[in-house]
Amino acid sequence: MSNARITPTQIAVDHAAQDLQIVWADAHSSVYSYEGLRRACPCVECRGGHGKMADPVDPTVWDLPSLQTYELKEVRPAGNYAVQFVWGDGHVHGVWSWTYLRSLRDDTEAKP
Ligand SMILES: [Zn+2]
Repeated sequence: MSNARITPTQIAVDHAAQDLQIVWADAHSSVYSYEGLRRACPCVECRGGHGKMADPVDPTVWDLPSLQTYELKEVRPAGNYAVQFVWGDGHVHGVWSWTYLRSLRDDTEAKP
């Protein structure tokens, strides 16, 4: 099975800009601020409990200013369908599927 929409071709981490960019096989590119990634983390701890796991992420998290400087130490593959982000403060619990990542920033090129 191959789906260009959820197949990453390039992942770039920009510490100075505090963001992560993913280029997908369909040529769409998505930019994720570190602040937004921390707030959109899909792990139980960040979501506030198992009952809230399916709640949608507030799209305004991507426009928030960074409250602190984060260190993204590693983007670690989790099977071939997801990644884990290893943060400088030790947070590593979330498993981010490509489908989830794409859904979070599917709109970035539609903005004027
Ligand atoms: Zn988390």
